[in-house]
Amino acid sequence: MNCTNCGRSLADESVFCMYCGRRQPTVTEEIASATKEVAEATAAVLERAVRVAKPVAVEVARAAFKVAGKAGSKGKEVADKVERETRPARERAKKAARKAVRKTARATTTAARNVKAKAAKK
Ligand SMILES: [Zn+2]
Repeated sequence: MNCTNCGRSLADESVFCMYCGRRQPTVTEEIASATKEVAEATAAVLERAVRVAKPVAVEVARAAFKVAGKAGSKGKEVADKVERETRPARERAKKAARKAVRKTARATTTAARNVKAKAAKK
């Protein structure tokens, strides 16, 4: 393995770097941080999806406006309604994405603790 700070080569089981003194992450910590990274990447994708959904909703509203064009002010009403009614769904998606990250992070911490506890028993 290599030191996470200075990059020099260390024995695989090293707890501290003998060159710079930095404590090395345990396997459990590495798993936890990798899982957290995955959760964050997932959340980023979900948030991007939410951002993409908004212009689509606006586009739908515009199309509705065009279709309802002959009905005059009714068209604008329809467009506003579509925008208004898609807002809660967009907000829900955003909240769900954040919740997923927190939940994954918590589950990871618990799993890491269990792994540690099991390792200590051996
Ligand atoms: Zn080092």
